[in-house]
Amino acid sequence: MVNTFEYDFSQQQNSVWKGKTSFSTGLYIDGKFVDGAEGKTIDVTNPADGKVFAKVSEATAKDVDLAVQAAHKAFKTVWGLRFPGSQRGKLLMKLADLMEQNADELAALESLDNGKAFATAKGFDVQQAAETIRYYGGWCDKHHGKTIEVDEHKLAYTRNEPFGVVGQIIPWNFPLLMFAWKLGPALATGNCIILKPSEFTPLTAIRMAHMIQEAGFPPGVVNILTGYGATAGSAISSHMMIDKVAFTGSTLVGRTVLKAAADSNLKNVTLELGGKSPNIIFDDADLEQAIKWSAFGIYFNHGQCCCAGSRVYVQEGVYDTFMQKFTEHVRALKVGDPFHPETFQGPQVSKVQFDRIMGYIQKGKDEGATVHLGGEQHGEEGYYIQPTIFTDAKPGMTIVKDEIFGPVVVVIKFKDEADIIEMANDSMYGLAAAVFSRDISRALKTAHDLGAGTVWVNQYNKLHYQVPFGGYKQSGIGRELGEYALANYTNVKAVHVNLTAEL
Ligand code: NAD
Repeated sequence: MVNTFEYDFSQQQNSVWKGKTSFSTGLYIDGKFVDGAEGKTIDVTNPADGKVFAKVSEATAKDVDLAVQAAHKAFKTVWGLRFPGSQRGKLLMKLADLMEQNADELAALESLDNGKAFATAKGFDVQQAAETIRYYGGWCDKHHGKTIEVDEHKLAYTRNEPFGVVGQIIPWNFPLLMFAWKLGPALATGNCIILKPSEFTPLTAIRMAHMIQEAGFPPGVVNILTGYGATAGSAISSHMMIDKVAFTGSTLVGRTVLKAAADSNLKNVTLELGGKSPNIIFDDADLEQAIKWSAFGIYFNHGQCCCAGSRVYVQEGVYDTFMQKFTEHVRALKVGDPFHPETFQGPQVSKVQFDRIMGYIQKGKDEGATVHLGGEQHGEEGYYIQPTIFTDAKPGMTIVKDEIFGPVVVVIKFKDEADIIEMANDSMYGLAAAVFSRDISRALKTAHDLGAGTVWVNQYNKLHYQVPFGGYKQSGIGRELGEYALANYTNVKAVHVNLTAEL
């Protein structure tokens, strides 16, 4: 029998939302909630206390196959270009409305599952996810082909056609938002979907499946499969009837997905991967502004942002003042219960991540860097880590090179512009970067010299669903968001129509 998840949020002492939730946690295949073929389940843990609070069905290769068959049927019979773009748009708008109507519940689920502050989950994750779905609802009837002039009497034109069935694999750091970034453009362009959320944070994706059903998407158009990466994830990336896979996660697994695609049917692949982003503060920067954004740049979402500003470079003239004020600012950040209205930083998502980050902190110390602030577990229960600042870090040290994916920053002094570009670009990653300066020429010249897919000037970590996002180097392939994401989900067909009687 398919499991039901029931939870009364009034048991969360500090929660401002005291509602209840109850929904089936089966796999969503062909418009129905079902058990996995092998009847297994996954335990879901609350990172605030380390206790299991839910069970969801576990998908294996057999379930992936059933979902692919259902998606193919839906694509051939009801969806794709058969279903008018304007009508697809209405369904996406309806879904966005449902998300907003259930914003408290979605935010509470996200906090419980992931550990992020309820206030952030509601004001940022849910709000941005709903807006993203609505934005792509608007694109459904606007992604046209072109007519192209050529040197003969011919009508040549292009059509943007959906791939058909696409696989989507997402991580745990922004479970709902990554869901929306993936779902929106794939549906806007007429594809059917097999989506796998992270095994660590499956709940909001399953709750979304219920809203997808309620919004009226035809069965088989969206299939949500909760499962592990090595089984369900790899079955998606190697399936012969999936023509495209979009993956967000670590660079290590991204490589595996790309290999699986190459070894199966050479499916089209887009990857959104890791980062180790530099944040550069010149001595003419507005220091108050730079300090606030730098703290937000690394500590937002507990440092679990792919674009986190985890390497802060400060020019020598302002280094001491920056360090003094930055430290005061970071010391004041509120760490604690995600349901407390004043919490900024909750627990890390899992024991695995907690241990990984603490391992990096130890490595930093062992290699000779100095823990300037934090560096320990916060409290005694759950996976909380103190906001941590390292100084005396040198290029080549592990904490300067590796993505830590936690509330840990290295602050490094630099001399001049030539010096900083080389240091900042010395990374296998190229996801994001930032520059703080009052001199616009200096800021823009630096922005153009940085090898990163996103560069902020006098800001950090602010993305917009209208603006593309993605990585240079080993941070990824392709772009999400904005009009650019539509290209990830379409094949271009060129049609040549001869208008003459000549050969
Ligand atoms: P992960 O790579 O461990 O897992 C991501 C997803 O891949 C999960 O759903 C997982 O189950 C699945 N997976 C694992 N092994 C697989 C396999 N062999 N085949 C197919 N799928 C498999 O990453 P994570 O720990 O969930 O997320 C953290 C990482 O994600 C960080 O490196 C972060 O930078 C990155 N990330 C990048 C972006 C971006 O837009 N660039 C956004 C968010 C997170």
